[in-house]
Amino acid sequence: MYEIGEEEIEALARLIRGKKLFRFGGTPEKPTETDLFERELGAHMGAKHTLAVNSGTSALICALVGAGVEPGDEVLVPGYTFMATALAVLNIGAVPVLTEVDAGLMLDPLDVARKIGPRTKAIVPVHMMGHVADLEPILKIAGERNVMVIEDACQCVGGSYRGKRTGTWGRAGAYSFNFYKILTCGEGGAMVTSDETVWQRARIQHDTGTAWRDDAPELKVPVFAGENYRFDEMRAAVMRVQLKRLEGILSRLRARNLGLRERLGRPETFEFAPVHDLAGFAGTAMFLRLENRAQAQAFAAEAAKQQLGAGLPYDSGRHVYSNWEPLIKRRGAFHPARDPLATTEAGKAQAYTVDALPRTLEHLARTVSVGIGLDWTEQQLDEAAAKLKLCGKHAAAPVSAQ
Ligand SMILES: *Cc1c(COP(=O)(O)O)cnc(C)c1O
Repeated sequence: MYEIGEEEIEALARLIRGKKLFRFGGTPEKPTETDLFERELGAHMGAKHTLAVNSGTSALICALVGAGVEPGDEVLVPGYTFMATALAVLNIGAVPVLTEVDAGLMLDPLDVARKIGPRTKAIVPVHMMGHVADLEPILKIAGERNVMVIEDACQCVGGSYRGKRTGTWGRAGAYSFNFYKILTCGEGGAMVTSDETVWQRARIQHDTGTAWRDDAPELKVPVFAGENYRFDEMRAAVMRVQLKRLEGILSRLRARNLGLRERLGRPETFEFAPVHDLAGFAGTAMFLRLENRAQAQAFAAEAAKQQLGAGLPYDSGRHVYSNWEPLIKRRGAFHPARDPLATTEAGKAQAYTVDALPRTLEHLARTVSVGIGLDWTEQQLDEAAAKLKLCGKHAAAPVSAQ
């Protein structure tokens, strides 16, 4: 959460006084808050269709179901992402294939090319910590090998790659509005797509198989049993205000991120991890690369002493594949009969070992992430830069000298 306040309170109060809390039932003359939010978010991102749902995980599930990923299909996911990316794949009966990340901690196009096989249906690049994945080579490979790209932009709402928003490059994209994301209504998410069939199937999946609502579009796809991931009017009221804050939040974060970079100049004791689009990334964090894990740990320890918000992606728990218990323990569902790891050839063939992605572990081990403050002043930026240089010196010093 970056910013929330009086405007959200007023929007929520107005909504509650109106006593209409259900997202459907709008008309062209009197759209619901959710109708309006979907329209505004789609227009902002440049997507034809938007479906607001109750979480980023649900948005991913809607994207996969909508795009026609089927049980037993393989879906490439990076080894560094929140576990939900891989679990959404399992949830629909498909099989996540662990794929390496590059030095910038984003899905590595080279390993994508290696891991695509005859059963691969989709690739899910993830835009982690406001950074953007290297989409162009990934889209090129996907086109050549006839697989779909579905973007997980849960941590990069509003970011862009080469001038086009994250989430809108592939067949479908997913955003999250949970408490820790750039925009928030506590919990929530949205799927965007410019494909009518994807949107219609996602609608059915998210609304218990609904084809019968008065304001439902005329369905061109057969109905099927779905679940309930519906958004609600209170969240929509909050999100419409949040969306108005988006560009302000992003420009402040980017300015401070780039300002800090500039102040660090050409650091001697560490380097900047590659960023695939410095103009379009969301700026929420900065990734610094050290020589090895020991140096990264020493850097982070010193940063903690200096009260600087720095972390070790290697230690970020469920964001690293080796900590994804349901995969490592091969428990892909609540019952083996529903578990693609037990019931499909693709699932049985996957070996989810903790050392499956050595390059990912090495990149993670060498990296320190620095959180960027939305309101940092010039003076605070000077201080942060000085502290980071100190951390770098500390990390690079021989152990005996510390
Ligand atoms: C937060 C997040 C999700 C899941 O979003 P929820 O709203 O928590 O369900 C998926 N992928 C990534 C990369 C995330 O950061």
